[in-house]
Amino acid sequence: MFVGTTAQKPALDEVLKTAAEENCQVDALDVAGARRIVPVLNPEMFEQAIFEPKSTDIDVHALHGGFLKVFAGRGGEIICDAEVKGMQWADGAWHVETKVGSFAAPIVVNAAGAWGGRYCCARGCASDGTDPETAHSNSV
Ligand SMILES: Cc1cc2nc3c(=O)[nH]c(=O)nc-3n(C[C@H](O)[C@H](O)[C@H](O)COP(=O)(O)OP(=O)(O)OC[C@H]3O[C@@H](n4cnc5c(N)ncnc54)[C@H](O)[C@@H]3O)c2cc1C
Repeated sequence: MFVGTTAQKPALDEVLKTAAEENCQVDALDVAGARRIVPVLNPEMFEQAIFEPKSTDIDVHALHGGFLKVFAGRGGEIICDAEVKGMQWADGAWHVETKVGSFAAPIVVNAAGAWGGRYCCARGCASDGTDPETAHSNSV
């Protein structure tokens, strides 16, 4: 559920517009309608709400386990706790130095999440500006 004040109506209207464009079912609710679903909502704190009745949780652990199973089934090997210390391009491949050894591959995917900017530094490229402290504080 999204709730907002009258001043936040443009943002809520944007959510409604996007939902309609993406064929996603959402219900616009007034304060009484929102409190029927979430009674603890303070009626003095918002004037309108949008409810997405079909939203659900994802079992992240099961999903992740499924990805790992498919990856292993295709011959992939997962090496954990292998911080990248540096990378160099030579002879048609990236040569990656990690704390558990060296690896070479023609393509490297930077999947370091919020640490992606620091990882860029490790391979001598310009950072994209991603910073773990900022990214995490924004998330929280
Ligand atoms: C408190 C919190 C709550 C969240 N809740 C939700 C939620 O409810 N729903 C949702 O959709 N999203 C949520 N998120 C966001 C979600 O966790 C991230 O968007 C997601 O994990 C990003 O995935 P990723 O694979 O890109 O990066 P990550 O999951 O961060 O993975 C990056 C990996 O790279 C590794 N790494 C970093 N640097 C190096 C290096 N130099 N060498 C080797 N490895 C390295 C890290 O150790 C890490 O394992 C939440 C985030 C936080 C912090």
